Amino acid sequence: MTKSAATHLLPVFARAELGFERGEGCWLVATNGERYLDFTSGVAVNALGHAHPALVKALQEQATKLWHMSNLFQSPDGEKLAVRLCNESFADFVFFCNSGAEAMECVIKVVRRYHATKGHPERYRMITFEGAFHGRTLATLAATGSAKYLEGFGPPMDGFDQVPHGDLEAVKKAIGPQTAGILIEPIQGEGGVRSAPPAFYRALRQLCDEHGLLLAFDEVQTGMGRTGDLFAHRRLGVTPDVMSLAKALGGGFPIGACLATAEAASGMTPGSHGSTFGGNPLAVSAANAVLDVMLQPGFFDHVQKMSLLLKQKLASVIDRHPEIVSEVRGEGLLIGIKAVVPSGDLVSALRDQKLLTVGAGDNVVRFLPPLIVTEGEIEEGVARLERACTALASSLKTPAAS
Ligand SMILES: *Cc1c(COP(=O)(O)O)cnc(C)c1O
Repeated sequence: MTKSAATHLLPVFARAELGFERGEGCWLVATNGERYLDFTSGVAVNALGHAHPALVKALQEQATKLWHMSNLFQSPDGEKLAVRLCNESFADFVFFCNSGAEAMECVIKVVRRYHATKGHPERYRMITFEGAFHGRTLATLAATGSAKYLEGFGPPMDGFDQVPHGDLEAVKKAIGPQTAGILIEPIQGEGGVRSAPPAFYRALRQLCDEHGLLLAFDEVQTGMGRTGDLFAHRRLGVTPDVMSLAKALGGGFPIGACLATAEAASGMTPGSHGSTFGGNPLAVSAANAVLDVMLQPGFFDHVQKMSLLLKQKLASVIDRHPEIVSEVRGEGLLIGIKAVVPSGDLVSALRDQKLLTVGAGDNVVRFLPPLIVTEGEIEEGVARLERACTALASSLKTPAAS
């Protein structure tokens, strides 16, 4: 009998044989009592680590007051969160939902509706990029455009034109009378921590302005401090018209958001979109608590400082183990290390050293520590990587007998 037959969880994940019962900061305690250093942050979600006191307090307090209210009524705390997100960004309006894919669904609807209400319903297509990841719903899968994920689910939803990442000429060629917008991640997370030079994003902005297109950024993974500022595009110096957030927004509580300028959102009228749980009071209280911490002076300086330290230390590991790892990529604490061995082997060798990391496309292993990671924890993580590389190198020399 296969292992998956022993579970009643739909077997869509290749889960490691390891479970956790609690966490504190950057550390997780497994069900067998062993301690792991967590450089996954639940795939860029637990930006403030596990059981952060400010988040625990916010949720506990909210839990005694109000868990859920429908969007039939005012949302005072949602209003407060929206104001704060708008003050920190280009946006005038925020729609709250529950996940990254839902935030992206809203982005796509905002872009399509914008042109439709301007009298151009034929302009519904969006230009996307190879290696992208935008989610697992049918529309966001079509935007993702990966054959591997689309297979067996019928014809992909129409309306996405994918071009090679970073190829400006291909983007120009793809723009036609039906084009509504361009959709890109400031850094591709799932795709392997890949980014284009800042000039590319500036050129996209310019193309959008020239052709009356909306520029949409998927900041589900890059947003909320991950790249060393609240949003990755602030460091790029390029402003989108519409943007998605999710992963770290609630610090581990599910919440997503679609942010848009008043102009971009001009098609969105009562009834044009909705969500039962969107803006749920528990989720909103968690997100407001996340912002309380992140907007304190020095928070992003810390992320950038830890980023520099991690990158320097990873570079020296690469110098010592070129047969295992070859390149460091990324910004802030969205760091990828390109593996020479299969990336899955490196992830499991790291897990053997009790360091948790995440695989990505392009044979990359992602290091996504909580943003509150300390210098000591970075050093400990890199020491574990060093040991994993040594272990992998010796197994390369003496192939295990089968
Ligand atoms: C994770 C992710 C998504 C999807 O988010 P879900 O919450 O899993 O639906 C979309 N875009 C990007 C860039 C992501 O990293």
